[in-house]
Amino acid sequence: MSSRQGPVVHKFGGSVLADAAAFRRVSTIVHSEQQSGAFQHGALLVISACAGVTDRLLAIAQAAAAGKAEQAEQELQALEQQHLGLVTELGLDRGELQEYVRRLCAELAELCRGIAYLGELTLRTRDAVLGYGELLASAIVAELLRRELPVPVHLVDARRVLLTDYHFGNATPMIGESGYLLQKEGVTGALQRGEVVVTQGFIGATPSGIPTTLGRGGSDYSAAAFARALEARELQLWKDVPGICTADPRRFPEAQPVAEISYAELQELARFGSKVVHPHAISPAVSGEIPVRIRSVFAPQQPGTLVWHRRYDAPAQPLALAWRERCMAFRWYPKGNSPLAEMPEIVDTVRKVLELYVVAASQGSVLLVTGPSTGTLEELYGKVSFLPHQFVLACIVGNEPSRWTWEALELLRNSDAVSAVWTGVSPVALYVLLEESAAQSALAELHGWILHTHALQRLRL
Ligand code: ASP
Ligand code: MG
Repeated sequence: MSSRQGPVVHKFGGSVLADAAAFRRVSTIVHSEQQSGAFQHGALLVISACAGVTDRLLAIAQAAAAGKAEQAEQELQALEQQHLGLVTELGLDRGELQEYVRRLCAELAELCRGIAYLGELTLRTRDAVLGYGELLASAIVAELLRRELPVPVHLVDARRVLLTDYHFGNATPMIGESGYLLQKEGVTGALQRGEVVVTQGFIGATPSGIPTTLGRGGSDYSAAAFARALEARELQLWKDVPGICTADPRRFPEAQPVAEISYAELQELARFGSKVVHPHAISPAVSGEIPVRIRSVFAPQQPGTLVWHRRYDAPAQPLALAWRERCMAFRWYPKGNSPLAEMPEIVDTVRKVLELYVVAASQGSVLLVTGPSTGTLEELYGKVSFLPHQFVLACIVGNEPSRWTWEALELLRNSDAVSAVWTGVSPVALYVLLEESAAQSALAELHGWILHTHALQRLRL
């Protein structure tokens, strides 16, 4: 594994912070990580708001801006009661935490009165409001851990250490500058002493100190930015799913988490709808070659999935199956005899109109596969001909597809679902275009093959 000496960064997000039991689960996980010696070079814990809280804050701010001050006030009180209830249920009501929660909620109420008074909600003000979910949840986690851990636990306001640009609502962290602030504010020093620092995901501040957010769902992105700024040894994202699976477990309950995946493979899966982590969110860590591990709070004894910058010695094997339903395929017959030279242009234009999944050239024509057609394409390109039905486009992700494509084809030999197969389009995926009517059984066959011939073999290693 990694020989880095840096701290570990763990991120716990909204869906894993639903109630008091969930907070206890997080605390147990952190405790056992600490006991195992994993925090030798310190641990930064990035916490996001409790489940649903950011949405509620947004609704409160919007109500205030729409002049519904009373409604906003009531909902704020409910939010305060929810957090105070958590504090009590967790047995943390005898210290200063209650007072701190009340103070944060009073600040929030003040902000909302300002919004109601002005009758408008700018992106800048919205960012200031939305960040309170993270401030509340992280204060509770920090206090809980203070009771549990044998090492000092510090609560650090991310708005003091995560510097961003001025793009309110969707800010980008400034890694180098944040690294400097982490030093200056003593975070780096505490981590070097093997201590624990709790901070917030999703929020930061501009160089002049104005609060920003990194966009909805941005706490993975924060965690990756922190990991990069601190030159972390590893980034661990705790979710309510076991990792990246061989297929979507909602469709194939027997799917298994894969032990390792490369960033390019993850990007490919995300393009086909996998939502476990957004590749862009972890890009700061990945580009710094910091391994990113996705783990489940419900199965902390399992290693989850490790995302690598590259999988240098990865076996040439299929790893996971994803697919897009209701695809349209169309053939384009370019004029002249140099279709490949003209291709980028049409591809670019099509991309502007529809989401394009595969482009492949063969025998004087180009086949493009997109999501459900809107008809716009036909208006744009009279000379394209749509294939007559809808398709399912399967994407088999794995290293060196050219070495196992034959195996996949052999498997589907007797299936009449296959309309087209592409290799060489992506270095980490094989695409198979399936006719909708027979697609489901073909997908099941492909997943069974990935799971039993390849994934289980790897799991046994
Ligand atoms: N709490 C924020 C949101 O719901 C950030 C996150 O959950 O990642 O968008
Ligand atoms: Mg959230």
